Amino acid sequence: MKMPVAVSAWEPSPSVARSIDISRAVAPRELLTRAERSDFRETGDYEEVVRLARKIASTVRGVRCVEIGKTARGRSMLMLVVSRNPVVTPEEARETGRPILWIQSAVHGGEVAGKDATILLLRDMALTDRHSRWLDRLIILLLPVFNIDGHDHSSPFNRANQNGPASMGFRANAQRLNLNRDYMKADSPEMRCWLRAYTAWLPHLVIDNHTTNGMDYQYDITFSVHRNQPAAEPVARWARKWLQPALARRLAGDGHITGPHVELEDAGELERGIQPEVSPPGYCLSYTAIQNRVAILAESHSLKCYRTQVCAHYDLMRHVLDLLSSPGGAALRTAVHLADRKAWKASGSESRGPVFVEGVPGGRLVPYQFKGLSSTRTRCKITGVFYTEYSDEPIDIPVKSASRVRTTLAIPAPVAYVVPPECTPIIDVLACHGIQMWRLGREFSGEFESWRLVEEHWDPLPFEGRLRMTFRAIRSREERTLSAGSRLVPMAQRAGRVALNLLAPDAPGSLVRWGFLNAIFEQKEYISDHVLAPMVARMWRADSRLRAEFRKRLRSEPSFAADPTRQMQFFYEHSPYFESGKNLYPILRVGDARTFTRLRGLSLRPVGI
Ligand SMILES: [Zn+2]
Repeated sequence: MKMPVAVSAWEPSPSVARSIDISRAVAPRELLTRAERSDFRETGDYEEVVRLARKIASTVRGVRCVEIGKTARGRSMLMLVVSRNPVVTPEEARETGRPILWIQSAVHGGEVAGKDATILLLRDMALTDRHSRWLDRLIILLLPVFNIDGHDHSSPFNRANQNGPASMGFRANAQRLNLNRDYMKADSPEMRCWLRAYTAWLPHLVIDNHTTNGMDYQYDITFSVHRNQPAAEPVARWARKWLQPALARRLAGDGHITGPHVELEDAGELERGIQPEVSPPGYCLSYTAIQNRVAILAESHSLKCYRTQVCAHYDLMRHVLDLLSSPGGAALRTAVHLADRKAWKASGSESRGPVFVEGVPGGRLVPYQFKGLSSTRTRCKITGVFYTEYSDEPIDIPVKSASRVRTTLAIPAPVAYVVPPECTPIIDVLACHGIQMWRLGREFSGEFESWRLVEEHWDPLPFEGRLRMTFRAIRSREERTLSAGSRLVPMAQRAGRVALNLLAPDAPGSLVRWGFLNAIFEQKEYISDHVLAPMVARMWRADSRLRAEFRKRLRSEPSFAADPTRQMQFFYEHSPYFESGKNLYPILRVGDARTFTRLRGLSLRPVGI
């Protein structure tokens, strides 16, 4: 039997649930969800989503069901394309000149309120005339359940912090991968399908529905949207000046209590203040930003009852659809177009300045009234741990809010990267991201910038199925021969920032740091002591600089001085027999436009898109 979640009794006013009550009142009985039929105590399985979606699509001309691929367990991933008239291809969608909106839910399989709200929304916009202007002004793509295998791995004992429905899905997919960390490395089949669909349709805006854990507070719905340098400036400006304030105003007008999404486990953490999102691009919010587009991370609150969660998502989506249907919303298309055009002009981009890859909350601290609940500290009588007990008494807590993001790492963009043909897993990932690549038709020798990655270190425990690693990158110029079939990846393309984040070795989300190139850190050949020892004697006699370097190591590193095996390795590494490819990053950087032009001239055709 499920134990009740210990929550305050605090819920927003029942009047905020108006929209889902109206939805239920006008719906045909056979299209009611299990959530509605159980008065929001339960939720349906994925079969219910498919059944209702197909039923609606069979009667409404502008609603199409599309399979975007298969999950890890081979289940069909359903997406709905919704508009006034049927839209079959992404090209047709773009030709309409309308904003394209993508709504996804249950990325974490137990966070299902967005899914139930999406079914209600689909039913309402397809079957009633209340929302008809959305269909005339937008192309709407719905992915009601992203993590289907996780969603149907349902149990009353998943998500202990969540106050309903009675049974809910599991956070990760069937491979135990968190899809909201997988946007860059794309290890899961679900993410590969998502990336192919996303880069084909290129929606201007994504709503990513989640249900957040953490401390209790008044907010029933919080949301984040990039308004700073993680996003391209025209897009960030649109979100900062227009979308964020307009959406917050509309939700508040309904009676919702809304604010910025915060990751706070306990009320005591409020002392640190609240901060803008600076998630890496493995998260949806930041991934869409480096694709020059927008995501809204929408988080209902796990401690509110399920009915409140569903209503919160329904209203947030309703308002975004309304806003995007207005002239101010349509301005997003222009902002995205400007950001894309700037990315295409990035050629010779040494002069364009470094590209943002990492930041921390910063800038001026501004006062903010956090809508909390009064609480007391209590001690667990068994273990002695102190924890916070929340009451249902609302209080405003004055906190500081960081207003901007401070850049901590920006990387000078090259003109292009060159990926050798043997790096197949990396080329596959680049192709999934819709990155344009040119295939070199024949061998080419020239001077390139390359990196040696030294002082390598792996994390002791896996993260998302991989052992992440760090190193020190030493950049140099050297003569290199490129194999025929190498992929030329120009920065001057729409997804140039995605390419840089994957290929610049020091970018935190780079594929090498996810362990895609671990073999370069392994020594593949060796030399026997009986072959090496006479060579050491010859090297010692012939090379005074080597003698000096060896003596310096002996003096400065006691562990080296005490280890004859390492000393032999020192001489092996300085001999002509040592393999040159060890610690050599195989991906090269083209820093000058002349070399790039020559390489383009020798390339066959764009591949990978
Ligand atoms: Zn989530």
